[in-house]
Amino acid sequence: MKISIPKEAITQIMADYNCTEEEAAKAYLDAQERAGEAFQSFLENRFSSQKKTPETGEPKIYTPKEIKKHLDKYVIGQEEYKKRLAIAAGYHFAMIKYLREHPEDETVKRFRKKNTITAGPSGSGKTYCVEVLGDLLQVPTLIIDATDYTEAGYVGKSADDMVRELIDMAPGHRREEQARFISRYGGLICIDEIDKKAKDGSLAGHDISREGFQRSVLKLIERKLVPINNPYSAASQIQEVIDRQRGEKSGKRDSMISTENILFILGGSFERMGDNLESIVKKRLQHKGRVKDDGSVEIKGFASEKKKNEKSRLRNYYKEAEADDYINFGLLPELIGRSPIRTFVNLLSKNDLIRIMQDTKDSILNQYIMEFKLFNIDLEFTQNAIEYVAETAENRKTGARALVSVWENILTDFQFELPGSNFSFLKVNRELCEKPKDFLLKMLERSPFVDYVENFKKEYGIELILDESVQDYFENYAHQHNLQIYETLKKFLSGASALNYMGVRGTYHITKEMIEDEKYFDKLFAKWYENQKKKIN
Ligand code: ADP
Repeated sequence: MKISIPKEAITQIMADYNCTEEEAAKAYLDAQERAGEAFQSFLENRFSSQKKTPETGEPKIYTPKEIKKHLDKYVIGQEEYKKRLAIAAGYHFAMIKYLREHPEDETVKRFRKKNTITAGPSGSGKTYCVEVLGDLLQVPTLIIDATDYTEAGYVGKSADDMVRELIDMAPGHRREEQARFISRYGGLICIDEIDKKAKDGSLAGHDISREGFQRSVLKLIERKLVPINNPYSAASQIQEVIDRQRGEKSGKRDSMISTENILFILGGSFERMGDNLESIVKKRLQHKGRVKDDGSVEIKGFASEKKKNEKSRLRNYYKEAEADDYINFGLLPELIGRSPIRTFVNLLSKNDLIRIMQDTKDSILNQYIMEFKLFNIDLEFTQNAIEYVAETAENRKTGARALVSVWENILTDFQFELPGSNFSFLKVNRELCEKPKDFLLKMLERSPFVDYVENFKKEYGIELILDESVQDYFENYAHQHNLQIYETLKKFLSGASALNYMGVRGTYHITKEMIEDEKYFDKLFAKWYENQKKKIN
């Protein structure tokens, strides 16, 4: 769009402010822009309650069953959690709609919100489920880590910043519009790792700030007004100075948002050294005589004496956690009181991990299939490869998160080497998963020895010579220890990088003597270093 600048305005500015024509024209344009903004902001403030929502449609209301059905497509297991979350969100957003249509209904406004608190092992779907939920409901959804936030007044992000970050996620061109979207339609804030903000009595200073954070979250949960712009940000402070210069009252421009329509979902693993939530629950149950020292439970209500004594291991104490257990762990009673829905997630089993890989809509296997296809390579996974990865991931004890890193370790080199090569098909079997590097080199008909030597030369400028007897030694070692040849070379020869520091250039002959002594290169380097010191002295 072409903007014309009236000549007389420019002449006037030049005369009034003793500036050049160019400066005057730029000032004119800036002033116009400012005036436009002020005009918009004035209208927004005057008509805020009557303004229609942004072009985006009104979020649809779903029944708890519909929500659960959607979650099932992405989240494996965790039935109880999905159900509770579906109920909390389903009723929360239906209630917001009701209040939009019946703003006069004061009683309903006083009803308790369905804020939720969830305990369970990391990587088992607590936050992922909220992510999927937000996608379905099409409401602004913020997922944060409590450890990234501090109590208000401390350095770092405060709890109020969460609300402002949620505003950033809402549709609309201006901040006021975005905030209004949340006021009308609601939003979700999921605070993960809330357990890291529990008091544990070990460090007084830390405890006070953790409790402070919990209190600021509590305020948000108890319907608080939060400025939609951070009052401490540079932009807000500059604006305040400008307002004051203009004789306007400071803070006048700050609009507020109420947190009443935001649903809070708190979660954490509630594990810490000494007393985790599980042990607190267990202790309480033991006290009541329901759990024996070995963790087994007596099942009551069976007729026969034999069955009366039947025991089953309690696999998930999180399931039994009550308000007092959370409070004993170190959460504020008021915070627990304001989170009436308490639920849990289970530790994922090998079987769950297999299902996560195979049965979910956005599964990691589908992602790899799709990615390889981008370079015209068809990928196929065998069942035993999937089982191998599930076992490896399960042993890492980080839930489904481990799946990503296990697959990355296996497929990274294939993703680098295969696109653009002659291969148009890759069958991922157990052998490939166990020894990916050797498998790839074999496929490419490259010797791991040649490959290692080439890479070493690229990195350090030294060409290692590995004669046949040395290669045999490595091959035997790899075979005996079920290692990849390439990995074995790395294990034995990474110390040879010291040669680079010692100024070695050209070729370097690796002998059997060198590899039989694990510390050979360390010792060589230490000797060289001593000599250097002597030379200097
Ligand atoms: P946390 O329980 O610590 O919040 P996340 O929900 O962040 O763990 O899980 C990490 C990742 O693992 C998710 O992004 C998701 O891809 C995967 N994941 C975890 N649990 C499940 C599950 N039950 N079903 C499907 N995927 C899952």
